[in-house]
Amino acid sequence: MPEHHLSEEILMAYAAGSLPEALSLVVASHITLCPVCRSKVETYEALGGSLMEDISPASLPESALSNIFAVLDSDEGAEEKTVPWGGTFTPSQQERERDPLPRPLRDYLGENLSALPWRPVIRGVEEAEITLGSNGARTRLMRIPAGVAMPRHTHGGEEITLVLEGGYSDAGGHFGRGDVQLADPSVDHQPVADDGEDCLCLVVSDAPLKLTGPIGRWLNPFISY
Ligand SMILES: [Zn+2]
Repeated sequence: MPEHHLSEEILMAYAAGSLPEALSLVVASHITLCPVCRSKVETYEALGGSLMEDISPASLPESALSNIFAVLDSDEGAEEKTVPWGGTFTPSQQERERDPLPRPLRDYLGENLSALPWRPVIRGVEEAEITLGSNGARTRLMRIPAGVAMPRHTHGGEEITLVLEGGYSDAGGHFGRGDVQLADPSVDHQPVADDGEDCLCLVVSDAPLKLTGPIGRWLNPFISY
């Protein structure tokens, strides 16, 4: 079970279909591995038809949001996954297969990870760009050898990382399979991969966070990472 989750705002924007493709892929992959966030997305999607589309953002009282979250708190632990592009499956099937990639990501990348355009970065770290045809976001897989420390770095823009295999630690704590970490230019960190297992991550950088659609426009002021 992941310990580092996506914000309510991101999950809500995802449910509303307002996220850019690269961020949407991160959310879809996280909720495949995280029953807590998946349950929230399902609730937002259910609310979307009955509530959100009819609400003018300007008239939404503050209490409405807390009411939504109260509903969410009482609705955790759903077992079946619903994926926005259709179909459902159970987590246990994928866990048995030991596929490091959540199904949404596997659907993008195909069966053969080694066929991706891997290139060396530093200290044995490799990365492979993923072409999403999206507007400005840079999406890549990154593999950090077990025990290796990445160079200390800051970010030129927002960056979101999803751990797919192995794990790493930095000043923000430990991040294992399914965990997400948000970083902005103010974050100065030095991730160190766990001993014993290479760390495989999905990283989206400089993702355009300007959201579209009625819900997206309403949420923009709340996007703070
Ligand atoms: Zn989560």
